[in-house]
Amino acid sequence: MSRETLRVFFALELPSEARERAAKAAQALRAGVPRGVRWVPPENLHLTLKFLGDVDAAQVPRLIGRAEAKLWPVPPFEVELAGLGALPSVRSARVLWLGVRKGNREMARIARKLDAAAASIGVERERRPFQAHLTLGRLRPPARVALERLEAPRGIAFGVEEVILYESRLSPDGARYIPLARLPLMQVEDAEAREFAPEI
Ligand code: ATP
Ligand code: MG
Repeated sequence: MSRETLRVFFALELPSEARERAAKAAQALRAGVPRGVRWVPPENLHLTLKFLGDVDAAQVPRLIGRAEAKLWPVPPFEVELAGLGALPSVRSARVLWLGVRKGNREMARIARKLDAAAASIGVERERRPFQAHLTLGRLRPPARVALERLEAPRGIAFGVEEVILYESRLSPDGARYIPLARLPLMQVEDAEAREFAPEI
């Protein structure tokens, strides 16, 4: 019997202003990189926390429950994007990214919790250290990029109040991300207030 699977990942969404500014930073990069870069469309810009790949659709509610439990109580935090980089190197770049100057530690902490939540439905644990970055474009084949000649974008800052579980639908026209669940981050006091609120 074949089972329905969904390709899913957890990520942070960019508020529209931050998204526009990140898209502008990507535009400015075009002068300094080879042709043929596949740029991430502005509506798809996001900060990945944990990629799970294909999971059994029937496990998704359980995954959401586990993730919610693990995220309690992680408070909202600030992210600031700054600086440009390439992976694995500027001499042979596959991915061009905007760096995370502020919020790295919080994102790494959340990524660990989501990794544990994913493991509880049988997803293999991440072995590589978490590296927060905002992917702007991808190169195939890898190529040299002259990032040093480009002006790095100034700080793009925003507040993070939720983690989103996305389904990724791949097609020849590119990926489409569909939010499946929004998991709010909470101050301990808020969470306690919610937990112990008398029912009226
Ligand atoms: P495409 O693969 O068509 O370029 P995409 O990479 O945007 O599209 P997905 O491959 O579904 O879409 O990836 C969703 C998110 O998860 C992206 O941020 C991607 O960088 C990240 N991701 C994908 N595969 C992995 C992986 N093996 N390890 C870590 N992160 C991954
Ligand atoms: Mg991909």
